[in-house]
Amino acid sequence: MINSLSSSYLWHGTLDTPYGAKVSWDALSYPKKEGGVGLRSFGSWNKTCGLKLIWMLFFRAGSIWVAWVRKKYLSRYCFWALNQDSASVSWSMRCLLKLRPKALPFLRISIGNGDETYFWWDPWTPFGSLIHYLGPEGPSSLGIPLFSLVKDSLSTAGWRLPPARSDLQLHLYSFISTIQYSPTNDKPSWVIQGKTCNFFSSNAVWKAIRPFSPQVSWDPIVWHKVTIPKHAITTWLFVLNRNPTLDRLLAWGLDVEPLCLLCGSCPESRNHLFFECPYSTALWKEITLKLGFQDPPYSWECIIQWLPLAFPTKDQSLALLLGWQASLYEIWSERNRRFHNGTSLTHNSVLRIIKVNIKNKCIALKNQKTKHGEALFLIWS
Ligand SMILES: [Zn+2]
Repeated sequence: MINSLSSSYLWHGTLDTPYGAKVSWDALSYPKKEGGVGLRSFGSWNKTCGLKLIWMLFFRAGSIWVAWVRKKYLSRYCFWALNQDSASVSWSMRCLLKLRPKALPFLRISIGNGDETYFWWDPWTPFGSLIHYLGPEGPSSLGIPLFSLVKDSLSTAGWRLPPARSDLQLHLYSFISTIQYSPTNDKPSWVIQGKTCNFFSSNAVWKAIRPFSPQVSWDPIVWHKVTIPKHAITTWLFVLNRNPTLDRLLAWGLDVEPLCLLCGSCPESRNHLFFECPYSTALWKEITLKLGFQDPPYSWECIIQWLPLAFPTKDQSLALLLGWQASLYEIWSERNRRFHNGTSLTHNSVLRIIKVNIKNKCIALKNQKTKHGEALFLIWS
């Protein structure tokens, strides 16, 4: 629900237009390296907050809330075995219980005297809850009741277990044989990606549970160090090809004229606009000429490959990326003026706007004494 409202606000500036998102909120929440913009998903963040409460149950015994939960729910039942559909379970507790499968991989219990650890439920082996590892027949197969504690099978004399009857049991016994009785209490630990954490790191947990997407190669040309934010967002949408160019509107079944509004001679698509269209070809030629290129590439795919390699120095590369993104933004703005308002600017006016916007950005970078400000100002002056 919150994701839907946020998406509506991002794309439309209101909370009541839940349709028409160019990119799903889940895709937005991926890091930039994975093709998103790095906004945090409310769903993942909400789960992280819930996991913190579960962490408190095991690591913050002094908390009043923990004492209350233990008294109300855990005095007779094991946390992992509580029925989340029971009418006696509150809504907030039910939310926590639904997070148990996500919490289980973070928790490890080192056995001491086995006094506080449920044999079938607590994660005291690498196999998670043994009731899930060996299945519902596990307790009868091993002759160990469902709510036994580890201490019921472990003593100073060693383990009391029947002979193994399956490969799964053999694997389990192989691990169990490494554990010896100790008079100390069982000790829980919170492990994130193989590293034991002595405190709850929301950031680390969020990173471990968030959805992942394959890494992309183009994030440096979209999210470079001196971006003009509105230019970067427009560029990002064009890299994903999510802006409503006429070929896409036609594919959605809309009744629109397919011809490019800038040249009037070819069907409009992203690749045509940038920069196969004669109108934008001329602009791109002038922008790149300013940076010293006589014959830059004009096809979308070639430009994407060429941009990171075009210049040997960082200053020149950033200057080119500023020019490329500003060209995309202003050419798309001009196309939208013609599409939505029926008005247009001359080629020279659009070129002037591109240069002025870049120059203003460079002046700001220079005045802020940023690393590349002075060099970029000289290049674009
Ligand atoms: Zn055109």
